[in-house]
Amino acid sequence: MFSRNEIIDILKDDKQNEWLFSYADNVRKEYVGNEVHLRGLIEFSNICKCNCKYCGLRCENKSVQRYRMQPEEILECAKHATDIGFKTIVLQSGEDPFFTKEILCEIIKEIKKMNVALTLSIGERSYDEYHAFKESGANRYLIRIETTDKKLYEKMHPNMSFENRINCIYNLKKLGYETGTGCLVGLPNQTIESLADDILFFKEIDADMIGIGPFIAHPQTPLNNSPNGNFTLALKVMAIVRILLKDINIPATTAMETLNKNGRIIALQSGANVVMPNVNLLKYSEKYQIYPNKDTGESNTINNKKHIEEKINKIGRTVSKDFGSHISKKNSF
Ligand code: SAH
Repeated sequence: MFSRNEIIDILKDDKQNEWLFSYADNVRKEYVGNEVHLRGLIEFSNICKCNCKYCGLRCENKSVQRYRMQPEEILECAKHATDIGFKTIVLQSGEDPFFTKEILCEIIKEIKKMNVALTLSIGERSYDEYHAFKESGANRYLIRIETTDKKLYEKMHPNMSFENRINCIYNLKKLGYETGTGCLVGLPNQTIESLADDILFFKEIDADMIGIGPFIAHPQTPLNNSPNGNFTLALKVMAIVRILLKDINIPATTAMETLNKNGRIIALQSGANVVMPNVNLLKYSEKYQIYPNKDTGESNTINNKKHIEEKINKIGRTVSKDFGSHISKKNSF
């Protein structure tokens, strides 16, 4: 177990990077094996009431062409993804009030008939709503804390409360979701010390999944002139998370692929064991620009899946055929 000071030293010193990445890769192999879990990501609405400073979908960005998939379309997309072998569907969106508790519960119930694990990533909702989604069959929930530096959090998220974000995470855990969180790396004025605190927070809440992504400046946001996050630093944060949390699920994030054209494979060799390919229609995924140059994969979902599988096989890993739950929770699924 690394202390806070040790984590800070590792993050600041680039001389030990190769040691760190191979250590994380060994922990990954020992605790979660060589299988990579694919999650089919459906970005079903880019309409958002929030105004996060870094995000291209923020409500004040008037140049986004907004879309909202209808429930039938979401189900069609999920059906196609499960037909071609995805064992987890992730529903992600902006915070779109059209999707009420009732509408979402119907969608969840229909998707659960497809013999698939279901993850939600739709932001902050009440305890009652999280409870209803769980009762309808949702298994997992992703909600990044983004940063544990409260001051920075409040600067980045106008009209949002840090305490409420934390509360959401605890509510999800209490309700028995496999709970995923994570952070951005490279936000303006984010310190190495606060990244160490992010990592310790993930350990403290005993997260089931952690997604780490470098910040990427979006031209139509107030952070348009800020430098992008550093790929290697994001990779290091991810590697330390693997070493400390051992058997959890860690995606090789799309933001890493955006900053380095081999980013996802490098991440899979530095602690990650999950990839989340887009299974949307291209006309939608192109409009889901939380940051620019987001990799939407190939236009055809089957080819895209094959392509990713080939890359995974090339590095001596296999694509899993099971649901890919957090190992220590397998029996509860
Ligand atoms: N509305 C949902 C989903 C947000 S999009 C929610 O609030 O949880 C998923 C993730 O994209 C966010 O959690 C954030 O960490 C990441 N993201 C948003 N803008 C980004 C940017 N400019 N660069 C890198 N990652 C970004």
